[in-house]
Amino acid sequence: MRTSVEKRDLAHYPFLPEAQGLLASRGIKVAGLSGSKIGCSYLDRAAERVITALDGKTVYPESEDDVVSDIITYVLARVLASASKDKRTMDRLCRMEASRVYAYFHAEENELLKKRVCEELGLELGDGALPVIRYVELASRVRDAKWRLINRDVENGFVSVSSDEMDVLIAERIRAILSSGLPLDIPESIAKEYLPWSDKILSAVQERTLVEFGAIDESAYPPCIQALISAAAAGVNLTHSGRFSMTAFLHNVGMNAEQVAGIFARSPDYNPDMTNYQVDHILTNEYTTPSCATMLTHGVCVNKDRLCESVSHPLNYYRSKKKMLEKMRIKDEALAKKAETSAEENPDAGSPGP
Ligand code: SF4
Repeated sequence: MRTSVEKRDLAHYPFLPEAQGLLASRGIKVAGLSGSKIGCSYLDRAAERVITALDGKTVYPESEDDVVSDIITYVLARVLASASKDKRTMDRLCRMEASRVYAYFHAEENELLKKRVCEELGLELGDGALPVIRYVELASRVRDAKWRLINRDVENGFVSVSSDEMDVLIAERIRAILSSGLPLDIPESIAKEYLPWSDKILSAVQERTLVEFGAIDESAYPPCIQALISAAAAGVNLTHSGRFSMTAFLHNVGMNAEQVAGIFARSPDYNPDMTNYQVDHILTNEYTTPSCATMLTHGVCVNKDRLCESVSHPLNYYRSKKKMLEKMRIKDEALAKKAETSAEENPDAGSPGP
């Protein structure tokens, strides 16, 4: 059994200070990489790493023998995801990295390394029970009801946790820690230098959104969003919830920041600087459209129609409505074609007799 941290291990756990030390010892810095061929290849691989995460993959193929490349692409992927300012991109990247790290951690036989990773991530491997406070901290982000403290066996201030459950908590902890550092604070000069790569990521985001939702179709917007757009166009000062819901929704269905700002530009009181700041802020910090229940609580669920009765999220409304409209369009086209064919076959059918 190995008892030390080896160079190859650093590619598996690139957040360890030893990994950053390896980059420093090779004189590799984040800034200025685009000036060299090898630097550009690192950036290409980093963008690829982010795009792999966008595709929902849980594993990024590491190179066989280039540990330095694996570490720097991990670092650069986090820089590029932060520069994209797209929360979903950052979330997806963290999920992929966390499941990758967890897979190595779970299979790890090197006890010293396991201990080192635990220290760095602030984890302790429990032996079937965790102190209540620690348990609540670790389980708070796991959704299933069985994790709620009320549903657990608690004895003498300790919560019983099976080894499978401990695995889930460790995986969640790794994800939370990797997420907590994002977005990184990227200096303007680096954001500018890496623009071609962060733009490549944003194009990939746009492409995937279009695949998910198809071309944007305003007629399929749910009544709540239609009402918010009309209110914005009429110069009504929307509440924070209204602005947030509308912005997040429009972004979710595929609009970029400029297109969203363009909706606000329909308002007679349009202030470009303020609008861009607000849109940017919402797109950077929050992402998902609120559910119908939240919209209702915030007073922005209005003009409900029949379709609203069968959905619990405005994005589901949009998907269903788009499908319905598409079906109607196909049906109308088929009817029109049938009428045309019949007119061609019986040119005199519709004309008055002699
Ligand atoms: S039920 Fe949902 S989709 Fe319909 S108006 Fe309310 S929030 Fe919008």
